[in-house]
Amino acid sequence: KISHIETGIAVKSIEEALPYYENVLGLKCYNIETVEDQKVKTAFLKVGDVKIELLELQAESTIAKFIEKNNGNGGMHHLAFAVEDSVANALAEAETTGIRPIDKAPRKGAEGLQIAFLHPKSTLGVLTELCEKP
Ligand code: ZN
Repeated sequence: KISHIETGIAVKSIEEALPYYENVLGLKCYNIETVEDQKVKTAFLKVGDVKIELLELQAESTIAKFIEKNNGNGGMHHLAFAVEDSVANALAEAETTGIRPIDKAPRKGAEGLQIAFLHPKSTLGVLTELCEKP
């Protein structure tokens, strides 16, 4: 059983995207936060145990490049899994199985949680994030 899973979706504007998630899908946004480190603005919504993280492009961020590559549209950006113990341990474990990390060491993500990304080239094309349990 996966207890916590999160999907990151790139959007051009959180303000423009939220009415769809809130009014059409009936979800509630419970946190909006800018992660300066990653030059990204995030909004969080929840469906059961699944978290949806909307990522808004800010100039020069990887999200901006992602949207550019997707014909100017946003879309599914990454999948995150909460790890059982520490992100550092999970990262080390992934490396021993030949998975290539993007982050050599955990860093601080949204909601003050430790995160680390794994390279999509070694995760079957899906940008994957390891995340500390909330
Ligand atoms: Zn994420």
